[in-house]
Amino acid sequence: MAATDIDVVVPARRAATVSRLLMGLAAGDDRPDLVTLIGHEVPDDQPAFGLTVRLLRPASTRYPIGDHDVAVRRNIGIWRSPCARIIGLDDDVVPAADTVAACRRLLAEDAYVWGHHRYRDLSAVGTDPELVARLVHTPAGAGRSRELGVNRWHLYQSCYAGMFAARRDELIASGGFDLAYCGRHAGEDQDLGLRLARRIHGREQVFIHEPPFAWHPEQPEPWGPPGWTNLCSGGHRTRSTVRNGLDLMSCLDCPWMTTDRPPKATDPLPLLAFDPGQASATEVWLKD
Ligand SMILES: [Zn+2]
Repeated sequence: MAATDIDVVVPARRAATVSRLLMGLAAGDDRPDLVTLIGHEVPDDQPAFGLTVRLLRPASTRYPIGDHDVAVRRNIGIWRSPCARIIGLDDDVVPAADTVAACRRLLAEDAYVWGHHRYRDLSAVGTDPELVARLVHTPAGAGRSRELGVNRWHLYQSCYAGMFAARRDELIASGGFDLAYCGRHAGEDQDLGLRLARRIHGREQVFIHEPPFAWHPEQPEPWGPPGWTNLCSGGHRTRSTVRNGLDLMSCLDCPWMTTDRPPKATDPLPLLAFDPGQASATEVWLKD
């Protein structure tokens, strides 16, 4: 695999919508070179729909895996990617036909790209290949806009990890997603967006592009239970602790931790840095 290739990295918790996502990528004008789904929820016999797709099944004795672990899953995907460029999508979105091509084009000019979401009722699309292909080729204006205006500057709060792209070396140089966001399911992407913008360009605003965009369901799709977890099943034995100056709650028996909204980043690097040596992953390649 050439070092210029594109890896679509997806923290995959919703097995029910992964086929729709893969069908959407397969129906695009420019297919990614690799798709990496991180998690234990997608089964080994998930079809690849003509794409090159691998599952990474993570394990760790130090980092929480199972619930509210999206920062860990995204970091494992980034650090274990063989590709030079990463596209970040969520498991319940559907990319547009030109999403991958737009990311390739824009990453030739900048280290990162923050894209857009268009909300739409996706319940009728299901996993019908023809309906997914039709959606992929539907103009963006057919969906409700996430932002007030696109192709203009926004504050870093408009950074969504469910539709972004970046050079892998820049993500790693920035420390990836901050593990201070473990135990939460929000904010890790805005924090990364702010740190990338500050470190690379010395600013706090971000340009929200369209293209690329991805279709996002109007109603959040439900999560299934974790396919595997290293977290306590019957409640945690909690304690207050301090790590790197950050007050948080952790568990005496498992890697669970959480904090109130972490402080706005003032440093280019995460408060709680990801150590790739503390998380393993078993690789499963999907077949058609
Ligand atoms: Zn616990």
